This record gives sequence, structure tokens and C-alpha cells, in this order.
Amino acid sequence: MDLRFRPEYEAFRQEVRAFLTQHWTDEDRASAPPVNPRGMSLGTAIRNDERATRFRLAAIERGYLYRHVPRRYGGSEQPFDPLKLAIIQDEFRKAEAPGELIGQGPSMLVPTLLEHGTEEQKQRFIRDTLLGKIQWCQGYSEPGAGSDLASLRTRADLDGDFFVVNGHKIWTSNADTADWMFALVRTDPDKPKHEGISYLLIDMKSPGITVRPLRQMTGEADFNEVFLDNVRVPVTNLVGKRGQGWTVSRSTLKHERNLIGSALLSERVLDGVRFLAQALELRGRPAIQDPVLRARLVELETKVLASRYHGYRLLTLQARGEDPGIAGLVTKLYGTTLGYDVARLAMDVLSDRGLLAPGETTAPAMGMFLTAYMWSLGILIAGGTANIQRNVIAERGLGLPRDPRAQRDTGQNPKEG
Ligand SMILES: Cc1cc2nc3c(=O)[nH]c(=O)nc-3n(C[C@H](O)[C@H](O)[C@H](O)COP(=O)(O)OP(=O)(O)OC[C@H]3O[C@@H](n4cnc5c(N)ncnc54)[C@H](O)[C@@H]3O)c2cc1C
Repeated sequence: MDLRFRPEYEAFRQEVRAFLTQHWTDEDRASAPPVNPRGMSLGTAIRNDERATRFRLAAIERGYLYRHVPRRYGGSEQPFDPLKLAIIQDEFRKAEAPGELIGQGPSMLVPTLLEHGTEEQKQRFIRDTLLGKIQWCQGYSEPGAGSDLASLRTRADLDGDFFVVNGHKIWTSNADTADWMFALVRTDPDKPKHEGISYLLIDMKSPGITVRPLRQMTGEADFNEVFLDNVRVPVTNLVGKRGQGWTVSRSTLKHERNLIGSALLSERVLDGVRFLAQALELRGRPAIQDPVLRARLVELETKVLASRYHGYRLLTLQARGEDPGIAGLVTKLYGTTLGYDVARLAMDVLSDRGLLAPGETTAPAMGMFLTAYMWSLGILIAGGTANIQRNVIAERGLGLPRDPRAQRDTGQNPKEG
């Protein structure tokens, strides 16, 4: 098997390198703001300061970022080419240059709007979201609706040109800093539960919204409860038709799972583990010389690569308009389990030093690996738990009998996406 790129792709790689040398200098790299422990797992992709925005605009102009998004909405609108995409990601990563922004807005809402939004919604939100000028949060989960998301009870009653929203969302990541929320609300309580749901864009500055932070085990408070009390939302903020929110939300969930299951997260932590293994000693010699550690490292390297190529395969199938079948269902479970394994290896390499939390002066890498480890547990749950993913793979992918509880309720599995 010849795994080399064809000459035209090598020429493209040189073009990208030249662009990076010109537009992302050593000075830009050195100006990086202090690393956020959660950012570490995403690498430079989430850097979002003025320099990064200037660079991103140049990269969009050249056709390197947001290639799937039309130019009129702020993307670079390039023909789909997974090899070019791979080269861009590779070179940007090596140069530590800002890539596409990652998060609920750019990664989940933008593709949903492209698929289901009105022209006005696309014009109004996509460009600013891609550049991080509008921050989003996701208002799906409720105290009684997590895995069984379709049981949600937040209501939106029509009043002239507005919906009046009342309810309570929970586990809403970044709601305290978000400008807008994309939310699932019940607009037709008398209909069967999946048919009475609509997808609304809610301005977080609207009167009647209260955000209460929830502190998690990392010590940070990224989660929130959001209380909605007679919040008025224009009907023009409905995405898709009234009562079709479940269908629209499946689009968002699919992208959420691809985001959460992406190899990028594990790759970044594994880069760090490699660095640690070279820098630290284990049983009196450099950790990298330890045969057990080397074996684990190589196994995880292989899995990370497999995960990355799996992502390219899905992109290729998507571009051809083909259904990926079971391959599309395994991404989240595989990627998040791998993320946990990689973070665990980091903790093992650090041994008791790994228990020093961010903020403690002697914590290696500012305690970032401990945070990455704790986050790896969280993302096994976010976007549909590992158990739910196993149900989905078993039932939809392997054709096994359906979950009896879900069958009794609705005939549909909970949080299938
Ligand atoms: C890091 C993180 C970020 C999040 N961010 C957001 C966000 O921004 N917006 C948002 O809306 N939500 C968010 N969530 C919430 C997340 O979507 C829910 O936590 C998740 O869907 C599980 O719901 P639950 O917590 O209510 O657990 P439950 O649904 O109560 O599940 C409890 C346990 O029962 C198991 N279980 C439930 N049903 C079944 C079944 N049918 N078969 C087998 N096992 C089952 C689950 O696997 C789990 O182990 C986030 C969660 C995390 C951890």
C-alpha cells in the first residue's frame, strides 16, 4: 500500500505552509494568551483573540477554513476534498495556528442552520458565529429530560408574533457567557411527545431569563441551570417548522456527537503525554524508555490515528451523499472512550504529581492533565451517555431488539439523535 500523497497534494501542502509562514509568525505564536486547561484538549483551535480573528479571516479568504460554508454566510465555500482538509488540519496544528472555532455555535448550530434555517437566520447568525462574535449555548436537557430528551416540559405558547417561553433547563454549558441559546421547547403539549417539540433561538439578554451556575468536580462552573419565566421570543426565531423541532434537533445532535467524538481532542492530550514521557522519569529512567508505557503509548497512537481516519471516511461518505450506516453511530462512543484512555495514561505517567490541581504552584503543566482527565469522564455523558450510544449501535446498527422501556413509551429510543 502506498500511503503517500499525490504530487498535486504535496504542492498544496507547500502552499499551505507558505501561507502559514507569512500569516502566522513566531511573534503571533508567542503572543498566545494563557492556556485554559479545557483549551488544552482542543489545542490552538479554540484560540479566539484579535490576532486569531485576523488570521482566520485571511485563512477563510484563501479557502482554508470553513470550506463547507458558502461565502455569502462567511465561509470559504470550497469543493469537498478530504485530503486537502487533512493537510490543512495537519499543517495548522504543526504551526500552532488558529483553526476553525470549535463549540456549540460553530460546530453544532451552524450546520443545523445551513440545513434547516431561514435565509434571514443564516444571514444574521452564521458569519458572526464562525468568528466567535456570537457565543451560543444549548438548551436541551431538563431536570426530567436527559437521556429521554423528548420528555422535555419547557413550554412555548404562541401569543401573536411571539412565543412565550416558561421552563427550566439544566446542564447548560456556558449559559453564563452565551449571547444566544438554541433550545428545544414544547409548543404543542397535546400532540405525541416527539411531535409537539419546536426548535427556538433565544436571546439570552431577554427579560425573564435567570442563569444559575453549577460547580462541577473540576472546580469550575461551566454548567448552569437556566430558568425561563415568560420569555418572549419572536416567531421568526423558530428553526424549521413548528412541531418539527425533534427532526431539527437530530441534526444538531449528529454534529455534537461528531464534535465530541472527534480525534482532535485525544490527539492534543496524546501530544502532551508524549512530551511528559520524554520529560519525566519513571523508576529511575526516562519514562519513554519504560516498555509498558511505550506499549500503551503505541496502542493509543494507533487508536487515535484510526479515529482520525474514521472521521475522514465519514466526511467522504457525507460528500458522496451516502449513508455511513453503523460507522456513523460509533464515533461518539469510540472517540470519548479513547479520550478517557489517553487522559488516564497521562495520569499514570504523572503518578501522584497528577493529583495536583490547577492553581497549585507545583502542579505539572498547571494541572491541565487532571482537568483533561475529569473532562474525559464528563464527555462520556454529554450529548448522550455511553449506555445510550451502546443502545443506538445495538438497535440501529446491529438490528438487535429495541429497549423495552423506550418501546413502551414512544416507539423511539431516547436521545438517539
Ligand atoms: C460535560 C457535559 C456537558 C453538557 N452540556 C450540556 C449542554 O450544553 N446542554 C444540554 O442541554 N445538556 C448538556 N449536558 C447534559 C447531557 O446531555 C445529559 O447529562 C445526558 O444526556 C444524560 O442525561 P442525564 O444527566 O439526565 O442522565 P439520565 O438520563 O438520568 O441517565 C442516568 C444514567 O442512566 C443511564 N440510562 C438512562 N436511560 C437509559 C437507557 N434507556 N438504557 C441504558 N441506560 C440508560 C444513563 O446511561 C446514565 O448512566 C451536558 C452533560 C455533560 C456531562
